[in-house]
Amino acid sequence: MASSSVGEPVGSEELGQRSRGIERRGFLGVATAGLMGAVAGLSRGADDGRKAQIAITFDLEMSRHYPTWDNTEWDYQKGNLDEPTKRYSVEAAKLAKELGGVIHFFLVGRVLEQAEIGWLTEIAASGHAIGNHTYDHVNLLADSPEKTQFRFQRAPWLIAGQTTEKILRDNVRLTTAAMQQRAGLKPNGFRTPGGFSNGLADRPDLQQMLMDEGFDWVSSKYPRHESGVTGEPPSQAVYDDIVRAQQEAQPFVYPSGLIEIPMSPISDVGAFRTRRWKLTHFLKAVRLAVEWAIETGGVFGFLCHPSCMVVEDPDFQTVRLICNLVRAAGDRAEIVTLDRIAANVRNPA
Ligand SMILES: [Zn+2]
Repeated sequence: MASSSVGEPVGSEELGQRSRGIERRGFLGVATAGLMGAVAGLSRGADDGRKAQIAITFDLEMSRHYPTWDNTEWDYQKGNLDEPTKRYSVEAAKLAKELGGVIHFFLVGRVLEQAEIGWLTEIAASGHAIGNHTYDHVNLLADSPEKTQFRFQRAPWLIAGQTTEKILRDNVRLTTAAMQQRAGLKPNGFRTPGGFSNGLADRPDLQQMLMDEGFDWVSSKYPRHESGVTGEPPSQAVYDDIVRAQQEAQPFVYPSGLIEIPMSPISDVGAFRTRRWKLTHFLKAVRLAVEWAIETGGVFGFLCHPSCMVVEDPDFQTVRLICNLVRAAGDRAEIVTLDRIAANVRNPA
């Protein structure tokens, strides 16, 4: 399976940037309002609908090549979170809250097979959001059963006789059931494992399946962007292209009615694992993207994985940076969970 630029093992690259008949009312509404504000020379306020919405999202799964480069076993055990990853998640949630923020987590359902889940219920109880990230971290765009997940290549009896469609649906459904039964949580939204440059625009069947499973918004799109050469610091052109790509990461509504809230470049694994960036490079890219959102009244959905961040950013500098930028922006920006962004797409303020 090809790796996407989000970094997790999913086959996103076969999807081209075909035209997609997507309704973009939400984004256009934001863009138009921003233009009018600029023309009128008005400062943005809390009640005029042009407040930037910044989300901090953590995908709760293990990541290939972390904590050490030789580790690829996580491909088969995405939900087997290690202690440092869980600790980082808890600490980041506490820190974000102290700094006036909130974190939206997406959980691989198999995490709930672990002996201890108090850390997760503690995070939920303190007001952070937890969404569904499938049970085994399956590739929704897989075109055959064995391509849905590495686990099923090693243990094909788990999916014997099943169609790709059934495997995917069960993987979504099991996570919802596990969250409800083991943790008493209803999933707050759905995020596809990996990100697709065209989102689910070419797959109305998957949009329908996710709506059938109870979701009215998903996070599946990760727009293409430059990221430079592995091992080299990002050039100005790379930073510029990441800022440009923010426009492609704005929420919209598919013709089916399903809301898409994309992941905003650049992800932690795209920067650190794929390109081997230093933390200072990553912080600069994130800062530029957040500043773009604040200036335009747009949306920025930061995407990271605590299994990667605990190694690359052990002092939570990225979470601090985002919270501090939003705080400094006063009433021009807010940190929100993705369901709040979806609500704003449905009924623009
Ligand atoms: Zn993931």
